[in-house]
Amino acid sequence: MKATPVIAIHGGAGTILRSAMNSETEARYHAALEGILLAGQRVLADGGSALDAVTEAVRLLEDCPLFNAGHGAVFTAAGTHELDASVMDGATLEAGAVSCVTRVKNPVLAARRVLDVSEHVMFTAAGAEAFAQAQGLEFVDPSYFYTEARHQQWMKARGTSGTMLDHDATTKFAFENDPIDPDKKFGTVGAVALDAHGHLAAATSTGGITNKQAGRVGDAPLIGAGCYANDATCAVSTTGTGEMFMRMLAAYDVSAQMEYRGASLEDASHDVVMNRLPRIEGRGGLVAVDAKGNVVLPFNTEGMYRGFARVGETPVTAIYR
Ligand code: ASP
Repeated sequence: MKATPVIAIHGGAGTILRSAMNSETEARYHAALEGILLAGQRVLADGGSALDAVTEAVRLLEDCPLFNAGHGAVFTAAGTHELDASVMDGATLEAGAVSCVTRVKNPVLAARRVLDVSEHVMFTAAGAEAFAQAQGLEFVDPSYFYTEARHQQWMKARGTSGTMLDHDATTKFAFENDPIDPDKKFGTVGAVALDAHGHLAAATSTGGITNKQAGRVGDAPLIGAGCYANDATCAVSTTGTGEMFMRMLAAYDVSAQMEYRGASLEDASHDVVMNRLPRIEGRGGLVAVDAKGNVVLPFNTEGMYRGFARVGETPVTAIYR
């Protein structure tokens, strides 16, 4: 018997800023997560592919200013926005990614076009934009990615570090309307899904880390680090300190542990998030689903915006531990 189709999403992990915790703010995040889960659930309920469901969910997460991807992306040290995204199809092991794009409205759609039509897996910067343009994707003025909240966040980070924001700094920056402390928050978005045909897919998108050096690329667009899907094992999307997730090949490690040592989805992802990443001070979390429809959403920070929805059931959303 086939497992019930399911989608899981995340909107970043981090440290909770207690002073910003209020029910109204929390309700906004829950509502955003739920609306996006319902959209992904609808794709799956209509018999759509896991690949389409994760692409659509991440597109909506990019459009939502609450999350650090697309509209609402963080600022680089140069005061610009450089966006990364990836997508992978567990049925075919095909993948697509873009990095350092500055004018593509929805980087995940560019990643999806790479998967669909290109013989290559990743395009970067000007080449990625030329590819996206040739594919007829929507372009925006870079000011589209600007939000006042992220700008304030950057202004504060800029004063404390010449290059990348130190997420381990003891200084805390108040960031109105965001219950997760932006100083200790990784706002990447992502989705994983299992469809009615038994196929898995994953997608991840990010603005990166506030005040990152121009040209810096993190784990989000790297297949195996921030995104991985294989029908034989699982689909994974990560969020956290990108450099550590890259060094650990975090997303692929979950899959490899299932494949090579027969670990369950839960054991494998727990080992990566709670044991392996902390050894190199990797902080963050992931969402993952396997072909049996098991869903896990582990994180080693205090909170992670997250949720999942099985077809026919009410979506579940959460922020804190
Ligand atoms: N992993 C992302 C990066 O390093 C950041 C995040 O998860 O928010 O670019």
